[in-house]
Amino acid sequence: MKPRTEPRSLPLLAALLCALALSGPLRAQEAPRPDFQSWLEGVRAEALARGISRPTLEAALAGIQPIERVIELDRQQPEFVDTFWNYLDRRVTPQRVGRGAALLEEHQALLGQLERRHGVPARLLVAFWGLETNYGRTLGSHPVPAALATLAYDGRRSAFFRRELLEALAILEAGHVAPQAMVGSWAGAMGQMQFMPSTFRAYAIDADGDGKKDLWGTLPDAFASAANYLAQAGWQPGETWGREVRLPADFSWQLAHLGVKKPIAAWAAMGVTRADGSPLPSADMAGAILLPQGHAGPAFMVYRNFEIILAWNRSVSYALAVGHLADRIAGLPPLANGREADNRRLSREQILELQQRLVALGFDLGEADGVLGSRTKAAIRTYQKSAGLPADGYPSVTLLEQLQSENSSSPGQGETALRNVLADPARDG
Ligand code: CA
Repeated sequence: MKPRTEPRSLPLLAALLCALALSGPLRAQEAPRPDFQSWLEGVRAEALARGISRPTLEAALAGIQPIERVIELDRQQPEFVDTFWNYLDRRVTPQRVGRGAALLEEHQALLGQLERRHGVPARLLVAFWGLETNYGRTLGSHPVPAALATLAYDGRRSAFFRRELLEALAILEAGHVAPQAMVGSWAGAMGQMQFMPSTFRAYAIDADGDGKKDLWGTLPDAFASAANYLAQAGWQPGETWGREVRLPADFSWQLAHLGVKKPIAAWAAMGVTRADGSPLPSADMAGAILLPQGHAGPAFMVYRNFEIILAWNRSVSYALAVGHLADRIAGLPPLANGREADNRRLSREQILELQQRLVALGFDLGEADGVLGSRTKAAIRTYQKSAGLPADGYPSVTLLEQLQSENSSSPGQGETALRNVLADPARDG
């Protein structure tokens, strides 16, 4: 019973978090950093060199101090990795669908105009609006210059947030918003669509022609800016983001991967259908199959516009939620399949244990770190193949339980099977 004698994963996680917490001060010891006000002087000098005026800098930065709450929020580590169903159900609620449909109708003229100009569907803009700020109800109340200065000074992602701070100062210099009205999320995302300052500077539009790009209080500016961003990112007019599909029982699960794109006809030939079992559309488009909650959960086919949503936010769950909310706002039905999937959340401790058990069986995933990266998912797929399980690469509590029984009941067997899998050149990376 080898696993039972292994150290529990919680102390390892604690040690890991401790090491992470220590890395800041240790770095600071190597190169002592200036106090906040001296550091801010450096920012002022750089901003002046970029053409931002002294009055703007005075109005934006005078008297600001690091905001402790912003650091807390930045360091917050979720205790659990939520399941896709939980993620989706919290965001695509009946209330949000209903309100989105009403707002789509209310702003039809404006949104229709933007759809014709930028090719981005009205329902999609409303869906982004709903997910980003609950249709303008939660714009965030953190003072953006101070929040960005706090994060830039903090040291974890200094270069990124310093650039954003300088972009925010440039927005103030241009007079689009008053310094005290420049509020947003703790990380500096602003307005109805939660644009970071650099995105604002590159894509924001003054749609109502009053000379100000006002993403907080002027809906035409906010919607047009979002449409412009998506169009510039490559949104294909007339194409949708994706759809729910149904996979055949004998599907090659390792093909469910954003990197595996095939013509719709090729998927159809493998037995993939629409969610209700009817044939896929005959459009000449390529798609990838995604299983955000494993083979027992809902299945999606996503097209190239899905990648444009990912340019906005790299989370696959977020992108699926935006696409699904857009569909629901337009009157399409809820997801049809996959509610029977294991919906138990994995804690970070359980992820670490899952990784350690895979390592103990000889699977290479780099360092067991409690983070679900692509190497861990690839190792899970390899393990699943070796154990004769659907190779969906999905980390679930069911999978952990399987590993627990494997580690304790049949040591060695997995390794033999692993060698067989590794000898297979066609295996999924
Ligand atoms: Ca304007």
